[in-house]
Amino acid sequence: LKNVSFIYNPGTPLEVYALNQIKVTLEEGLITGVIGPTGSGKSTLLMLLNGLLKPNRGEVTVDGISTTQKQELKAIRKKVQLIFQYPEYQLFAETVFEEIAFGPKNFGIEITEQKALELLEQVGLDKGCLYRSPFELSGGEKRRLAIASVLGISPKYLILDEPAAALDPLGKETIYRLLLSLKNQGVTVVIVSHNMDEVALLCDRILVLDRGNVVAYGEKTEVFLSLLERNVPGLNLPVY
Ligand code: ATP
Ligand code: MG
Repeated sequence: LKNVSFIYNPGTPLEVYALNQIKVTLEEGLITGVIGPTGSGKSTLLMLLNGLLKPNRGEVTVDGISTTQKQELKAIRKKVQLIFQYPEYQLFAETVFEEIAFGPKNFGIEITEQKALELLEQVGLDKGCLYRSPFELSGGEKRRLAIASVLGISPKYLILDEPAAALDPLGKETIYRLLLSLKNQGVTVVIVSHNMDEVALLCDRILVLDRGNVVAYGEKTEVFLSLLERNVPGLNLPVY
């Protein structure tokens, strides 16, 4: 992100400065955690990464290509897969199988029943749910299904907003193992989380936002130590 600013409803009385001149280069092959208080701009930043939102000022580039280049947008969307904070909003098919097959189809990838079952297993969902309705699934199951359906696209970058929220301890563990194994396969992962233990466990790099500004960015332990030294309140830092 090169000097990226994002404003909701610019020029109206409802104008909100969500991000101010963000300068960050996310590193390939690592897991980056984006943290910061509610309203600090984390979800907005994620949506800028795959071109869902466009910066009002500055530029977001993916592998050197700007998200404002219309003819490149489909290629960027394929590479950069985003799991929303509330993934139920990204489910819409009649069965779990169709849900898993739909996204990849958009990019010319065919998902067989066998592949769909493998993807369910990867995210720790029971194989028996293949022909159930996504809407019958629990919140945690919906989140896992959303992840399974983007994994079918084999993204280079995987961006997840609160990936383990609303999951039970076993569900969290499944997602953590999955994210670490994706990293080992070379996928670059970015997560937003309010759970500092999770961030400490999973992330290599940390980006700290506060009211749309970057407070810190860098190697995990260094960032946590610098936050402690600067006495940034409210981040619920993990105790080592
Ligand atoms: P949380 O931790 O609660 O998810 P966040 O860090 O993800 O917060 P954002 O959702 O990026 O925060 O919001 C940043 C700012 O932009 C907030 O002030 C929010 O109220 C505002 N905002 C977010 N979405 C919209 C929208 N669609 N229209 C107007 N303002 C918005
Ligand atoms: Mg958010």
